[in-house]
Amino acid sequence: MEPIVLTKIGETLIEDPVHQVNEQDTFSKMPIAVLGVHDICKGWISVKGVSATHNIIYCRSCGLRIQFPREIDTYGKLRQWCADQMKAEKNRNHEINGFLTMNRPIG
Ligand SMILES: [Zn+2]
Repeated sequence: MEPIVLTKIGETLIEDPVHQVNEQDTFSKMPIAVLGVHDICKGWISVKGVSATHNIIYCRSCGLRIQFPREIDTYGKLRQWCADQMKAEKNRNHEINGFLTMNRPIG
């Protein structure tokens, strides 16, 4: 599986070489809820339910924590969801920057 880009600074989830996965695999299939490895950091990334509506993935080594809706239950859905979040944030920043530019005092 291709690494999944998790954050805007380019952190990725890579598959554990011992438990190779594909996009359709559900998280519940993974032994002891380990989804893979936090690339570069090399910590284990796990998934955990934390509320009625949301799960988190978290890194056991560095404290990375990402919350996402419970419907996101496969690697493919996680990849898409992360990409959508980053795109949405980029658009929000463009809007804010556009607003600040428009309202900058003249002179
Ligand atoms: Zn980490």
